[in-house]
Amino acid sequence: MSAFSGNDDLKALIRTIPDFPKPGIQFRDITSLLLDGAGFSVCIDRLVTVAEPLRLDLIAAVEARGFLFGAALAKALGVGILPIRKPGKLPGTPVGVDYALEYGTDRLEMHAHDLQPATRVLIVDDLIATGGTVLATAELIRNHGGVVAGALFVIDLPDLGGAARLRDAGVETHSLIAFEGD
Ligand code: AMP
Repeated sequence: MSAFSGNDDLKALIRTIPDFPKPGIQFRDITSLLLDGAGFSVCIDRLVTVAEPLRLDLIAAVEARGFLFGAALAKALGVGILPIRKPGKLPGTPVGVDYALEYGTDRLEMHAHDLQPATRVLIVDDLIATGGTVLATAELIRNHGGVVAGALFVIDLPDLGGAARLRDAGVETHSLIAFEGD
């Protein structure tokens, strides 16, 4: 796990909403960062600095907040985007992976045949909590011929153990900001 030491400026732009979507959750809200043009721009610049050495061919952006950061990062790096979508959204032939939630299961999908063999893919999302979403994304990419070049987040909640789980699964994990104690 890598984190910039100088990202307190970005951290100050993340709004915290207690007890959303349920009691006890400290919701780390990136909409306040998105509203700040200079802050969003600096955030993308720093994501670029982390991503550049990873020799990636493609960004996999996770619906929905991952699209915002993934698209800006892809433009800056000159690479394409593979949207990782909730079920039933893709118009072509989907392939998917089911994964466990606290209660029940969920599913993520991508278009079949979108990955050339050995394509190096960087997974991008706004935040890593338990890591379930991105572990499922990594499985989907690997099952369809891709190589996971790493995973990149604006925010890590280290107490929830997601980055450690990703590391155990062989996914190099990076983030700009950590909120300890969540
Ligand atoms: P997880 O699969 O547990 O790593 O959850 C990651 C997804 O849930 C990310 O797409 C986040 O946007 C969202 N999420 C989980 N916990 C929080 C939180 N405390 N604040 C904001 N978003 C969260």
